[in-house]
Amino acid sequence: MKNNDFNRRTFLKTSLLGTAGALFANKMTGAESIKSIHAEGKQGKIVKRKLGNTDLELPVVSFGVMRADNPNLAKAALDAGIEHFDTAHGYQNGNNEKMLGEVLKDYPRNSFTIATKVPSRNKEEFLKNLDISLERLQMDHVEILYSHAVSSRDQVLSEEVIDALKTAKSQGKTRYIGVSTHSNEPEVIQAVIDGGVHDVILVAYNFRQDHKDEMTRLIEEASKAGIGVVAMKTQAGGDLEADSGTKMPNQAALKWALNNPNVHTAIPGIINYDELNENMAVMNDLDLNQEEENFLYAASFEEGLYCNGCQECTETCRKQLPIPDMMRAYMYAYGYREVKKAKDELIARGIQDDPCKDCTDCTVKCKKGFKVPRKIADITRVAQVPDDFLV
Ligand code: SF4
Ligand code: SF4
Repeated sequence: MKNNDFNRRTFLKTSLLGTAGALFANKMTGAESIKSIHAEGKQGKIVKRKLGNTDLELPVVSFGVMRADNPNLAKAALDAGIEHFDTAHGYQNGNNEKMLGEVLKDYPRNSFTIATKVPSRNKEEFLKNLDISLERLQMDHVEILYSHAVSSRDQVLSEEVIDALKTAKSQGKTRYIGVSTHSNEPEVIQAVIDGGVHDVILVAYNFRQDHKDEMTRLIEEASKAGIGVVAMKTQAGGDLEADSGTKMPNQAALKWALNNPNVHTAIPGIINYDELNENMAVMNDLDLNQEEENFLYAASFEEGLYCNGCQECTETCRKQLPIPDMMRAYMYAYGYREVKKAKDELIARGIQDDPCKDCTDCTVKCKKGFKVPRKIADITRVAQVPDDFLV
């Protein structure tokens, strides 16, 4: 972490904290059953953990490919020791899977693992989309197939979706099945544990979550139940604030998640060689130093861009707007600089205009203190920008 990553306000806060941040480290006790395996990679140490009861043993740093479009970056990741790639049917309108397929076809099939995520709560459509994904990937199977963006117990335990996942597994199109979730995560994890059907869960987990203690407890329960735990959103939305210039201390944020040994691997988004090197270097020393702990502790109080996905706003909104989804679109635009993806998220939910403009006296109270109507007004403007202007 570079000193110039601190803005003055955060720096002051951090300094005043002294050693208070030490309490913020995500160290776990009593998790000795989760062994980390250390090896030397071409560019430094590689730390591996077993993914639940699967037979996969993965470096703790994997590759969240969502925003990557450079085939040479994927090749560099393989050379650097990354083994697991995480994509989805919908990323970059399918081009993300196509890009990976073009790269990975030249590598032995046992030298990497891949996960993709398919949406849809309808079995026939789900399996059709999986076939399209496999064709784009130029593979006959993936290692992990997730039901994408699940946010409730009912969705996890939907007989139709479980049937679709089990069918894909029995057809040999995936070795393991799971769900991905970035909202209402505690309910989803508990349902996965109770259901006893899924092999892996891909879950948002970071130091800025208000419910991180509950997450830590449930992740431990899931791990003890033999479920592989993959962490995403470990960087908590990229930059801390849209226009502040305050950069997320990426290594510290990733280390925080990986300090929990029940997190078996994480999939930070990587879009360039610097980020690849930065993430890989984390494995040289997973311990947070005092400065990093203090920074994370201070940053956890900032409003930031990361929506907890707690859904407490949705019931109090007069129009029952999908506010967590809109806040995620906001994070894509302002945190990740992915304006097209933000637009796609909005359009997929039928949002083309500011739905708050004719609603006075907002009834929504956001747990994180977001000024929700203001953020909605900001983000819905991108829905009107022609695609040609969005990269
Ligand atoms: S202003 Fe927007 S977010 Fe607030 S209650 Fe009205 S529609 Fe919902
Ligand atoms: S906008 Fe606020 S209240 Fe709504 S899900 Fe996100 S953090 Fe929770």
